[in-house]
Amino acid sequence: MAGKSAETGSEYGLIEAGGTKFVLGIADAARTIRARHQIPTTTPEETLGTAVAWFREQGLNPAAIGIASFGPLDLDPASPTWGHIPRTPKPHWTGADLVTPFAQAFACPVAIDTDVNGAALSEYRWGAGVDDKSLLYLTIGTGIGGGFVNGKHAGGHLLHGLSHPEMGHIRVARHPQDHNYPGFCPFHGDCLEGLVAGPAIKARWNASLSDLPAVHPAHGIIAWYIGQAICTFQAMLEPARIVLGGGVMHAPGLIEMVRDSAAEWGAGYFVGDPRAIIVPPGLGDNAGLLGALALVLEEG
Ligand code: ZN
Repeated sequence: MAGKSAETGSEYGLIEAGGTKFVLGIADAARTIRARHQIPTTTPEETLGTAVAWFREQGLNPAAIGIASFGPLDLDPASPTWGHIPRTPKPHWTGADLVTPFAQAFACPVAIDTDVNGAALSEYRWGAGVDDKSLLYLTIGTGIGGGFVNGKHAGGHLLHGLSHPEMGHIRVARHPQDHNYPGFCPFHGDCLEGLVAGPAIKARWNASLSDLPAVHPAHGIIAWYIGQAICTFQAMLEPARIVLGGGVMHAPGLIEMVRDSAAEWGAGYFVGDPRAIIVPPGLGDNAGLLGALALVLEEG
């Protein structure tokens, strides 16, 4: 976050920046959301301008603003393009500066991180991981991303290297009955995201997992890949809690299949038992805004 620290007892402007819509909200540190609004994602100028105008209409005088955004993002505080989107297949948004319009309009600090990291931190603080020392959040939807919170420090601490993690782009072994599809990741082809995200499921089976019958082999194949990925993440991080969000995970019965698959891949080696620690998200409709709030409170 740039600038002075956030003050307690104050209001925060919250932004969940998605590829198709921006959700805006105003809340206090007790998670009371007094106003909420949704706008379509068009060009950066129009979308960010509309967001600033809505906050002004609401009379916002924020202690700080939190942004939980689609990625990738430049999160190096020393970088001149901190808070920008360095590259994205989304038209108009490569190079977009998400921070400056809000910092200038409201003369306050702005905290920014990925929507996945925001979700990880909010689930850790208030949701499915409230009793756990560490938490891995994976979103499996139109893309795949992961965020890890280490709870060694009070309030939790998000894992960052040069930038946010890119857990969707790990390599995975190919399922024996899934050798023809090349994967859709423009960078790696058949990385985890390239094989398991929503577009990869539609490309192979012409439907979402939720729309395929329960006996369809796609469920087992997708669960096999996700279980394998979780085995890798357990080997690296040993999370006490693993939260699986995103549209693909809405398929009935999938999370149970993933638990079984992860348990088979791990073969009892890791401390965390996949059948016990893998859960759906605990936060409901306001999860995105609460992610932005968690980010702003972490920095404050
Ligand atoms: Zn990839």
